[in-house]
Amino acid sequence: MGQSCNIAVIGAGAAGLVTARELQREGHRVTVFEKANKVGGTWLYDSRVESDLLGLDPNREIVHSSLYKSLRTNLPRQVMSFMDYPFVKRESGDRRPFPGHEEVLRFLQDFARDFGLMELIRFGHEVIRVELVDEVSHEWVVESRTRETESRWESKEEVFEAVVICNGKHAEPKVAEFPGRDTWPGLQMHSHNYRTPEQFENKIVVLIGNGPSATDILKDISPLAKQVHLAFRGSDIMLINLKNYDNAWPHSPIECAHEDGKVVFQDGSIVEAEVIIHCTGYKLHLPFLKSNGIVTVDDNRVGPLYKHIFPPSLAPGLSFVGINYRALVFRVIELQAIWVAKVLSGKVKLPTQEAMAASVEEFYEQMEKAGLPKYHTHSLQNDEGEYVSWLAAQLDIRPPKSWEELRFFSFVKGIFAHGENFRDTWDVDKWIQEIESSD
Ligand code: FAD
Repeated sequence: MGQSCNIAVIGAGAAGLVTARELQREGHRVTVFEKANKVGGTWLYDSRVESDLLGLDPNREIVHSSLYKSLRTNLPRQVMSFMDYPFVKRESGDRRPFPGHEEVLRFLQDFARDFGLMELIRFGHEVIRVELVDEVSHEWVVESRTRETESRWESKEEVFEAVVICNGKHAEPKVAEFPGRDTWPGLQMHSHNYRTPEQFENKIVVLIGNGPSATDILKDISPLAKQVHLAFRGSDIMLINLKNYDNAWPHSPIECAHEDGKVVFQDGSIVEAEVIIHCTGYKLHLPFLKSNGIVTVDDNRVGPLYKHIFPPSLAPGLSFVGINYRALVFRVIELQAIWVAKVLSGKVKLPTQEAMAASVEEFYEQMEKAGLPKYHTHSLQNDEGEYVSWLAAQLDIRPPKSWEELRFFSFVKGIFAHGENFRDTWDVDKWIQEIESSD
């Protein structure tokens, strides 16, 4: 691999777009496969919902975006910027520090247009297979399909020297397991399929989870719903003050659900509910990747991946950008994309296959020693700073000093300090300005 390569990128969300830009900057020939008809990925709000609202049926028609209509970012725009392309406030746009989702989509659309990425993207092309052609040539076949008519698909195979997977991590729902779930008679859905509150008017609703989606959805539906019951683990910290809601109550996780509609919680309380919304997160999903078992997805661990990006024995031809979470995602994906682009052009060298494999093993051992479960593999909750500094060092980029303070967890702390209305009560612009003025 080296100089200019013919590279496929899967996905035109934030990760795919910034990857395409960096690959192009390095002089590679880039084709982006995007199954939707527009850029934006997650940020492309879609009012449609899936045929199976819990997302259990593998044959359901997939709707990619998990956004609800009222969603505003939970990170301020400054940290959803790229290094040389800030997410600025526009005169006619949503100027709030935590803007609505339309503003993020507009930012990504502008980014794609300003860097000439639109010409690289094949819209309406869903990748259905990525496979190594053979061990010797190290070429990859990408099979994609386009919809010709309602029931007819046309598929095509093409060969590339490298493939970068940027297919997102918020489209395959993870649902809560409890006895009686599948025979409970009420309406169940995953937050992936929640859009607006109207259908919950006068309903008794159980929300499972205590993350940003559960909190936002509770705020959205409580003015209309009859009752809202929030089921979450005792160890979780409450993001929301339920005392501010006279029709909402906390509970422990669900123990079981009965065919007469009763939902029993582990604390012994019982509610006769009509709706259960699982706000329980997502699974990493790579249905198109055929790697002969070299890369697997196990309990949300995609592995083995050197630094969350390269499978040692398939590097650098196969890489992943954007599988990390609990991090300032835009910052991380930009650095990952630059690294991948420079590795593919031969400007930055990877360690040997053996050294990369050993590093992955060591990382897994460290996780085990620290008692961290496998499904936390790609969380950067504890080491975002270290990871970002490592990537920057590979690229000889000197990050601004303010990056030490502006990390995902400093924002989580800020959110807790300012309460559930943090988006409007926290003068985050002032806080960031003060930190950045020290650069
Ligand atoms: P995505 O945006 O999901 O893009 C993946 C793209 O790949 C999509 O366009 C999809 O159509 C395409 N694709 C998938 N499979 C295929 C295939 N087989 N063939 C062709 N194309 C394919 N992040 C923040 O920084 N701030 C926030 O406030 C924030 N809020 C969030 C709120 C919610 C409800 C969710 C779900 C996520 C939020 N995130 C937030 C995280 C968000 O995922 C990232 O900001 C970012 O959008 C991830 O970009 P991505 O490109 O990795 O994935």
